[in-house]
Amino acid sequence: MDPRETTVAVSPRVALQNDLSPGQACKRFSTPLVVIACAAARTRSDLWLFRRKCREYPEILSDGLVRRFSESICHKIFMLRGVYIGYKATVEQYRNEIAVAKLFRGAAPSLGDLLDTAEASVSNLEAEWHYSRLELGSPFLLVSFVAEGHMVPTRSSREILLQLILGRKTFRDRLSSTNPANFLGNIGDRVDLPFEPLQQADIVKLALKKPVADGSIKMLFVCYHDIPSNQSRRMVVGANQENWEGLKEIGDIRRRDRDYRLEPYIPRAWAAYKALRDHEIQEAGAINHKDYSTLQLGALRVRLAEDMRGHPSFLGRRNEHGQAFTTGGESHPCCYVCSGMMGYRVHMAWDRQRERLYFGSFDFKRRGDYPHSCAEVAASQQCAMYLVKNGLHEKY
Ligand SMILES: [Zn+2]
Repeated sequence: MDPRETTVAVSPRVALQNDLSPGQACKRFSTPLVVIACAAARTRSDLWLFRRKCREYPEILSDGLVRRFSESICHKIFMLRGVYIGYKATVEQYRNEIAVAKLFRGAAPSLGDLLDTAEASVSNLEAEWHYSRLELGSPFLLVSFVAEGHMVPTRSSREILLQLILGRKTFRDRLSSTNPANFLGNIGDRVDLPFEPLQQADIVKLALKKPVADGSIKMLFVCYHDIPSNQSRRMVVGANQENWEGLKEIGDIRRRDRDYRLEPYIPRAWAAYKALRDHEIQEAGAINHKDYSTLQLGALRVRLAEDMRGHPSFLGRRNEHGQAFTTGGESHPCCYVCSGMMGYRVHMAWDRQRERLYFGSFDFKRRGDYPHSCAEVAASQQCAMYLVKNGLHEKY
């Protein structure tokens, strides 16, 4: 097992707040309660997909990685239940207050309604978990709960599930018998990661004006290496940061978990990111967007990203092929900085004009000091470890 695959679970800390005005209570709790409900529903969707994949490919159940998957589900339950109980202690006294109206399409529910919805959604997830364990009966599903201090995965459940699907022998054989480059172009369709239809119904009941964070990842990246020992075509997987916006108690924990996982690689990601940014400033000065159309800036950046291949901090390699895709299965190009930092050759059909517009709209300021937020960086770290494990230089 790779190092830093797991970390220690900590309880989300929620302080009791007795001195809030009704307005403050609404502002404080409306979004987080909705996020709890949505995150529980989304996690249940991962379980639903897992069960479906196990029925389709029963060999998955004998993979040791199933244990990681079950830990990741139990970890989510532990955090969501913990934060819910913490909130409940405060929210009960504001039960009849009406939630922040702008979140909802119709009449806003009360904080009590939101509390009940969050409770129902977490309970549904717990029930689904117990049901799945009974139905599947895998020895790796023995993990039944997580408590503070337990070891939990640093990766998210959907990412682990993808690794399970890609690890199947039949999948690897199919990849081996075909041109991997063509295979990767629509990898999202091939692995087929739909969401549970029922989840939509739960969210529909909330009648949200627009979707809120649900604790899930958005982007996945898979990579395949042309190396002598990779006859069975093992692929590595990376994902971006889980989205917990609005539920800081869990978001901070999961950001720390991911940063812990990537820690040995972060200084290198930084060096490559900084080199690209400096190169851009050297070539064009601090970009004043008024002087460039998105298309012009994009054309410049396509070249700058390409120039990075010769830079000592460049993280890419010669014998690797990758493809990013959304958790819904849609192929996606790498962003400007990932193209500059790692230069993965991607295989989706993708025209020059769209590439320029995409690169041109990248904003260093919005990215902040977080060069390792993309799925590609997480994959690149895995690639380095994978190559070393196979006796090759990590830049092979
Ligand atoms: Zn990126």
